[in-house]
Amino acid sequence: MRLDKLLANMGFGSRKDVKALLKKKLVTVNDTVVKDGSSHINPDMDLIEVNNERVQYEKYIYIMMNKPPGVISATVDDREKTVIDLLGEDLQIFKPFPVGRLDKDTEGLMFITNDGELAHQLVSPKKNIVKTYFARISGRVTEEDIGKFADGVVLDDGYKSKPADLAILNRGEISEIEVKITEGKYHQVKRMFEAVGKKVVYLKRESMGELVLDENLQLGTYRRLNENELKYCF
Ligand code: URA
Repeated sequence: MRLDKLLANMGFGSRKDVKALLKKKLVTVNDTVVKDGSSHINPDMDLIEVNNERVQYEKYIYIMMNKPPGVISATVDDREKTVIDLLGEDLQIFKPFPVGRLDKDTEGLMFITNDGELAHQLVSPKKNIVKTYFARISGRVTEEDIGKFADGVVLDDGYKSKPADLAILNRGEISEIEVKITEGKYHQVKRMFEAVGKKVVYLKRESMGELVLDENLQLGTYRRLNENELKYCF
């Protein structure tokens, strides 16, 4: 990997800023000053220092965000604000992307990474990753609905959903529920409730597999996954 690219990726500014650092002889590789940004280095083997401080190279980043309503789960968009727009530049330089989709009005756990292989595994239907949602439903959710969800409901396009685990938390004019699904079809939860004649009025994703939304994260904020989450969640 080129030295200037690595330093730019690690937040040392633009290629131009990096060039200035190199010119000032502030960058060493294995204790030798290197002024040529095109020099090839091996981030896993070489000791890279800027201003006598070691540069710890990171290839992948893993972030959880509490997605707010009103932003879309895409990387870039001409008109709408995306979850990636909410990240600081120090993270955007890693070219991260959201894993799986949430509707514009859905809140909650959004996992963001630049690790394509992991992302692929998480969205693969074969992996049956359980996603847990909290929802408010206009209308009274019943035991019968629980049974229908357990059998799988037929969506508006004729597709029969896989069995889903529905729990009623609060019954009323607006019911509160938790539902666990293993699929990620377009508007899946909303369409499953439509199939039983009810409407989702609020939707929040609480977890994806073992990864649980940190309730200390305010809407629109994010943090890197900690070591335990990295070790046990995937
Ligand atoms: N199901 C939906 O209907 N919407 C989402 O955003 C996620 C799951």
